Amino acid sequence: MGQENFDMQELGDLPGVKDVHFIDKTYVLVSRMWRNKDTVIDFGDGLKISRTNLTIVAGPCSIESEDQVVETVGVFKENGIKFMRGGVFKPRSSPYSFRGLSLEGLKFFWKHCRANGIKVVTEVMDCSQIDKMYDYVDVFQVGAGNMQNFDLLDALGKVNKPVLLKRGLSATLEELLSSAEYIFSGGNEDIILCERGIRSFDKTFRNTLDLNAIPYLKEKSYLPVFCDPSHDVGVRQFIEVKALAAIMASADGIMLEIHSTPEKAFSNNFQTRSFREFIDSFDRIRKTYIFRKTIF
Ligand code: PEP
Ligand code: MN
Repeated sequence: MGQENFDMQELGDLPGVKDVHFIDKTYVLVSRMWRNKDTVIDFGDGLKISRTNLTIVAGPCSIESEDQVVETVGVFKENGIKFMRGGVFKPRSSPYSFRGLSLEGLKFFWKHCRANGIKVVTEVMDCSQIDKMYDYVDVFQVGAGNMQNFDLLDALGKVNKPVLLKRGLSATLEELLSSAEYIFSGGNEDIILCERGIRSFDKTFRNTLDLNAIPYLKEKSYLPVFCDPSHDVGVRQFIEVKALAAIMASADGIMLEIHSTPEKAFSNNFQTRSFREFIDSFDRIRKTYIFRKTIF
C-alpha cells in the first residue's frame, strides 16, 4: 500500500503468491472491504456503544467547577444517562478564551462520574497529555481541529481506550475515515466516528451539518457513527431537530452540550441547552430512535 508504481504481474509471479489486489483507497482496515461485523465497544456492566443501541453523550462544553460536575451527575443519575462529556483541555479559536481546568478538573470530573457509574468522555489535544489523562478517561475525544493531527492519531492507536473521532471543519469523509485508519492501524480498534458539521459558504450558522455523512459512513465502515448537533448549528433552539434528523439518518449516538445555566457557560454558551431542555430532547430522541427501529 502507498506505492503507486509497481508491476502487479511481477508480484503475482513471485513464488507463493496466489492473487494480487490493487488497493486504491487511503483506508482499508476501517472499511467493509475486509470486515462486516459491526464494532461493539463494551464498557462492562451491560454498557455498550454499538449499532444496536442508542448512546447519548451529554455535558458542558468545558468542565468549569466541581459543583457543576456534581449537579450534572445528579441529573444524569435521575435520567439514566451514562456518558458525560466535558473538556478540560479546550481548543479555542482565541488564546484569550477559557481553555479549561486541565488535569485538576479532569480528576474531579472522573471522581464523581466514577462514583456514579458514568463514563467520562473528554478531549485530548496533544500526545503529551495522553499518559497523564489515561487513568481518568473512558473515551478520548479527538476534536475537529485535531482530526489530522497524525502524531496524536498514531499515539491513540497504541492506547487501550476508545476514541471518539470528530470530523474536521473542512475534512472530506475519506479524510475522516483515513484518520480513523491511523488509529486502527496502530492497534486500537475501538473508534467512534462523529459528524459535527462542516464549514460552508453560508455564515448564517456556525457550521452545516452534513447529514449525508451519517448513512455514508455507516455503509462504508462498520464503526459506530455519532452526531454532535451542538457544534454544527451553533444556536440552541435548532439543536433538537438536528439531533432527531441525525437519528433518522441512522446515527448510533448523539452528543449534546448542556449546562444548568447555558447563558453563563464559560464556552459555547449559544449552543448549550439547559438541563430541562435536554431532558425533553432526550425523551424525543429516544422516541425517534424507537420509531426508526420500527420502520427500518
Ligand atoms: C467540543 O466538543 O467541545 C469541541 C471543541 O468540539 P469540536 O472539536 O467539534 O469543535
Ligand atoms: Mn464545545
